[in-house]
Amino acid sequence: MKRLLATTSALAVLLGVAAAPALAEEKTAWRLFVSDHAAPVVHALDMETGQTIETFSVKTPARLYSTDSGRSIFAVQGTSDVVSVLSSGISFGDHGDHGDIKVEAPRLLDVSFEGKKPSHFVDHNGDIALFFDGEGKARITREADILEGKPAIREVATDAPHHGVAVALGDDVLISEPNKDKPDELPVGIRVVDRTGATVGDVHSCPDLHGEASSGNLLAIACAEGLLVTSGDGKIELLPYDKALPEGKSTTLVGGRGLQYFLGNYGPSAVVLIDPKSEEAFRLIDLPTRRVHFTVDPVRAKFAYIFTEDGQLHRIDVVAGKIDGSLKLTEPYSMDGHWSDPRPRIAVAGNRIVVSDPLKSALHVVDAESFTKGDDIPLEGKPFNLVAVGGSGETH
Ligand code: ZN
Ligand code: ZN
Repeated sequence: MKRLLATTSALAVLLGVAAAPALAEEKTAWRLFVSDHAAPVVHALDMETGQTIETFSVKTPARLYSTDSGRSIFAVQGTSDVVSVLSSGISFGDHGDHGDIKVEAPRLLDVSFEGKKPSHFVDHNGDIALFFDGEGKARITREADILEGKPAIREVATDAPHHGVAVALGDDVLISEPNKDKPDELPVGIRVVDRTGATVGDVHSCPDLHGEASSGNLLAIACAEGLLVTSGDGKIELLPYDKALPEGKSTTLVGGRGLQYFLGNYGPSAVVLIDPKSEEAFRLIDLPTRRVHFTVDPVRAKFAYIFTEDGQLHRIDVVAGKIDGSLKLTEPYSMDGHWSDPRPRIAVAGNRIVVSDPLKSALHVVDAESFTKGDDIPLEGKPFNLVAVGGSGETH
C-alpha cells in the first residue's frame, strides 16, 4: 500500500497540532449532515456539542454525498428529480506552513440540478459529475462555481436511459455504456468522451458495471470480472478478480484516504481489500453476519468500519487485513426485506465514528481513538444517510 499525502481535513488535523504562531487561534469544527429515511429534511449538527444547528427542507428524502473539500453536501433526491446542494459552512485555506479554517453557517444553496432520476454523484478534484438514470445523461460542473452560485454545466449523453455513472477526469469524462439490448440492466462498459464530445478510443468492457471510487491518483470501477483501474494517464486496465476468491463481485467501492487501497463488498457477508499495486491485490475479509454499510477512516488511515445486520460495528485494520475490534451498537437490522429499508449508516467525524439508528431515532457515537461507546445523540424521525465534514485549523 502506498502512503498518500494527507487529505485536506487530515492535513488540517496534522497542522493543527503544530506550534501555532502568535495571534493565531486554533479551532476544530466537525459537522454532521443527516438525511431522514421518510421525511424530506437534512439536519446539520455540530459534532462538538451534538446540537442541531439547522434542519433544511428538501423535496423528498435524500441520499447525501460530501465533496472531498468538505465545502458542499449534495442531496440526491431520486424520486423528485432534483439534486439540492448545501454549503457545509466549513472551509480550509492552505497557508503553506499551516492551514486556516473558516466556519460559517451551513446553508441550502439556490443552485440545484434538475433531471430525471438522479442517481450517482462523483467528485474528482472538484469536478462534479451527476448522473441522471432517467435520461442516460451526466451533468458535469465544478464545485467552486456552484459555491459562487453560477455553475457552468457540461452535458454528456449516452445512447439510452440506464442506471449509470460518470467521472470527470481532467478534460475527459468517463461515462457508463448502456446495455444496448437491455438498458434496464447494468451498463456493459466505460466510454471516454473528450471536451468536444467525441469518443476517445474504444469502449472499455465492464459488464455489470456498478461502483466506483478514487484513492490517491487511482480511480477504480467495479465490473463483473474485476476492476477497471486508471491513474488518469489515458490507460484504463482491468484488474481481474483473483482466482482464489470465491464466486462474487464488488458493486460498491470506497477509496482509502491516506493509504492507497479500495474496499469493496463481495457477496453478502464479506468485504474485499483491493490494492491494485500489490502482488496480492485482493484480500477477502469474512464477516460474522451480512453486511449493512462500510466506510473508510479518512483520519486514521489504517482503519475502515463495517456495520453488520446483527447490530455490530467492526473495525478493520486494512494493513493486517482483518477485523480488530467489534462493538454492539443497535438491535439487529436484518438484511432480509427490501434493500432500501431503513438501516444504519456510518460516518467518521474527526475523533468520532457516528452510526445512525433509524428505528430508534438516534445517532450512536463511538470514540475513534479508543473504539469505545460514547453518548448517543437523539434525533427525531428516522435518521439515515450521514456525511461528516470538518477538521482543525487556525483562525487569525
Ligand atoms: Zn493562516
Ligand atoms: Zn447505483
